[in-house]
Amino acid sequence: MRRSISIFMAFALVGMFVYSCQKESLTQGQEIPQKVIDQLTKMGFNPDGIELTDEGYRIERDIIITDEFLATAGNETRVPGAEQYSTNNLVSTGGSRNIKMFADTGRRGYSAGMIAGLDEAIARYNAMNLEISFSRVTNSNQADIVMTRLNKGEERQGILGSAGFPTASGDPYGEIKMSGILESGYGLSTAGIATIIAHEMGHCVGFRHTDYFDRSISCNGSPYNEGEAGIGANHIPGTPTGATNSAKSWMLSCTDGGDRPFNNDDRTALNYLY
Ligand SMILES: [Zn+2]
Repeated sequence: MRRSISIFMAFALVGMFVYSCQKESLTQGQEIPQKVIDQLTKMGFNPDGIELTDEGYRIERDIIITDEFLATAGNETRVPGAEQYSTNNLVSTGGSRNIKMFADTGRRGYSAGMIAGLDEAIARYNAMNLEISFSRVTNSNQADIVMTRLNKGEERQGILGSAGFPTASGDPYGEIKMSGILESGYGLSTAGIATIIAHEMGHCVGFRHTDYFDRSISCNGSPYNEGEAGIGANHIPGTPTGATNSAKSWMLSCTDGGDRPFNNDDRTALNYLY
């Protein structure tokens, strides 16, 4: 028995979006090797939150840790205060790097509304004139990041998306798992969908949650610290002390499904890293 937890938000029976990263349900699942539980625990993760997925181990609700990542993760321990944060691994740009994204539009793929959200997310990053830029390609073989749908059960549970962090060799994480029902099931606007996709893209290039040190800031519930977790939680210079929900950072742990364009601190953080 292990806990299954939803990412970001759940669709409440009362018909509104709520901040909810609380543990939603208990499901029977595949066993996670004790060795992996031990390693992830040692890295600072709460073992209750580990789920086995096709890509690897899903922790902290929307972060994927692959076996490869586990093998290369350091044991550095840094627990800073409260600002914008990055992982130790970042994307190598060589001064300028275009990251190609693919999202399936086939039968079990994404609707036009979801693709519009992806295009808007890409446009938001590109408008920043960073060393990284994004483009959408129509052939998955050419893509650096492939966006694929969650399974139906996860989509119905209200899971929004998940992604991982850059590799030790400086490539972005290669897959975003994303719900395909943000528009059809939850009625999110293009801007709201763009916000969620931009969040997962943020993980792929090395952003941790702005409130990683206390997820209750955006998710409500009890204080919960994701920890340094062996992947780094490096303060990004120039970003303020103390995350608040009202600042609506795109990298907050939970969202209400609304629009969160990059705020000034998000911009500082993006410009600093890239
Ligand atoms: Zn996240």
